Amino acid sequence: MTDVAAVDLRLRIEHRVGRLLGETAPSPFIRILTGAEESDLLLKALKAAVEFDIYWSNEYFYQWLGGEASASVNDWLRNLLQPPKLREEITVEGHQLHIVERPFVPADARLASLRAFAIDMQMPGAGVAYARVLAKQGAYVEALAIARKNLETTRARETDAAAQARANPSNGAAGPRSAPRQYELHVIENQIFALERVIAGKTVFRALKRYLGDDDGYLKARTCHMPFERIDIQENGNCAVCCAQWMPRFSTGNVLSDGVSALDVFRNDRSAAARQSMLDGSFKFCDLVKCPVFANEALPTKEAALVFGENTRNGVQRGAVKHEYPSYVLLAFDQSCNLSCPSCRSHVITEKMDMQTRKEELIGTSIAPLLRQARVLHINPAGEIFVSRPLRRLLSKLNPTDYPNLKLNIISNGMLLNQREWDKFPGIHGMIDSIRISTDAATKPTFEKLRRGGRWEIFYENLKFLAGLKDRGEINEFKLSFTYQVDNFREMPAFVDMCRELSPHAVTIFEKLENWGTFKPEDYKHMAVHKMDHPLHEEFLAIISQPKMAVVPRRLYADYSGFL
Ligand code: SF4
Repeated sequence: MTDVAAVDLRLRIEHRVGRLLGETAPSPFIRILTGAEESDLLLKALKAAVEFDIYWSNEYFYQWLGGEASASVNDWLRNLLQPPKLREEITVEGHQLHIVERPFVPADARLASLRAFAIDMQMPGAGVAYARVLAKQGAYVEALAIARKNLETTRARETDAAAQARANPSNGAAGPRSAPRQYELHVIENQIFALERVIAGKTVFRALKRYLGDDDGYLKARTCHMPFERIDIQENGNCAVCCAQWMPRFSTGNVLSDGVSALDVFRNDRSAAARQSMLDGSFKFCDLVKCPVFANEALPTKEAALVFGENTRNGVQRGAVKHEYPSYVLLAFDQSCNLSCPSCRSHVITEKMDMQTRKEELIGTSIAPLLRQARVLHINPAGEIFVSRPLRRLLSKLNPTDYPNLKLNIISNGMLLNQREWDKFPGIHGMIDSIRISTDAATKPTFEKLRRGGRWEIFYENLKFLAGLKDRGEINEFKLSFTYQVDNFREMPAFVDMCRELSPHAVTIFEKLENWGTFKPEDYKHMAVHKMDHPLHEEFLAIISQPKMAVVPRRLYADYSGFL
C-alpha cells in the first residue's frame, strides 16, 4: 500500500521547492502538479469531470497514474533546471484548479493528488479511479468504503442540482435552460457490486474486473450490435438504443415532445455517442450488472459481431457511428393493460384517448417509415399489445407484401391471445418470429397473486393454443418468461417443466426483478432474492444451481449466471 502520509510529506517538500521556483497558484486556485508526459491525461480526466462523465473521468485519472513510480536524480535535476509551466486553469465541481506541468512528477505523488481529487474534492470519476487503485492493491474494504461514499455524495450532488434547477428554471436569466446535471451513477454502482462480491469471496464476471483494477482489454476487444441496429420508442416518447433499464437514464430524444421523427433520433449525435461507446471499449452508458450479456459473458468480439447487420459492420470496420435506418425497432409504446401486476403497477392503466390518438398519428408519420426498412419489430413490453388501440391498428396494417423484410416479436401477458383474437390479424400470420408470454408462475395461486386480474385456467388454455402455433410451425419461437423474486423463486424448476410440457420447442426465459420505481426501496429489498444480502439468497442459489436451470442456447435463457 502507498504510504499516503509519506507522499503528503513529499508533496509538501515539492510544494516548497515549487514556491522557491516561483510556482505558486493564487488563491482561490488549487495547484495540481503533473508530469509533462501525463498532463494530457489529467486534462482529459478533468474535462470529462466537467461534463459529469464519470466513466471517462475515471479512466483518464487511472491512466494518468501510470508511468514511473519514483524520481531518479536526473528527474529531480530536470525539474530544477526547467521552470514549471502553467498548463491550464480549469474549474471542476466548483474547484478552481491550476494545472502546473513539470518535467517529472512521480506516480506516488500523482496518487496522492488522485486521493485529494477523490476524497477532498469529491470528484466522482476520481473516486472510481482511486477505489480501482486500492482494489488493485488488494485493499478491497477500503476501496468499497471509498466507492460507497462516492455514490452517496454524487447522488446528493445530483439531487441538489435538480432542486436548484427547479427553483431557478431558467438559471435566473432569459437564456436557455442548462442541461440537467446527470451523472452515470451506474458506473459507481457497478464498482460497488464488484467490490461487494469480491469481499464476499464470490466470482466477479470479467467485464466488471475493470472496476477492481484492469480488465486486460476484455471490453476493448468486444462490442454490442444493439445501438447500431436498434431504436426503442417508449410510452412517453423517449427513445433509446437498447433496453432503457440496461442503459439507465439514457435517452436519444423524444418523438412526442421534441418535434423530431424517430428517424431523426436514430441519426442524431446522442445515438452516435452510444455507438461510439461500443467501439471504444467504454460501454459507458451500459449498466454492466443489469444487462445480462455481461454477466453471461456473452458479449461478442468485434469480429464475431460483424454478422449482426450492416450498420454494425460499418461501425466495427470503418468506425461509422451515423447510420440511415435501424434494422430492429422496439415499441414499448402503450402502457394500457388489462392486468395490474404488482411488479409493474399498482392499478389498471388505460392511456387517455387524446394520447392514443397522438400515438396513432405517430405510427403513420414516424414509425411506419422506420418499419419499411427494418427486419424486426419488437412490440410492446410497456403494456398489453392486445388492449392498445394504436398497436392493434398497427397490427391490422402490417402484412408481408408491404413489409417484406419485417418479422414481429410480440410480448403479451397472454390473457387475450386466443384463436379468436389471432384470427383478427391475418396480415401478420406469416410474419411472427416469436411470441413471448410473461408468466412468472407455474401454479394457479402464484399466477393469480402476481398477475392481478388474471385467471389461470384461461391463461393456460391460451398457452396451449400458442404452443400449438409453434408446434405446427406457424410461429418461429414460443417463449415463456419468468421474473423471479421472493414470491415465486421456488417455482422456477417447476416452470422449466411446465414449458417443456407445453411444447418441447418452448423457450424458457428467467429475469431478475428490477425496481422500475414501482417499489419502495425496503419493499424491493424484501423481494429481490437475487441480492447477496437477501436472507433467502443461499436457497435461491441452490435452486439456480440445479442442472435443469442451466442456460441452454435457444432453450433456456437466464440472467443469473453472474450470481453463481
Ligand atoms: S446494455 Fe447490453 S445489450 Fe444494451 S447496448 Fe449495452 S451491452 Fe448491448
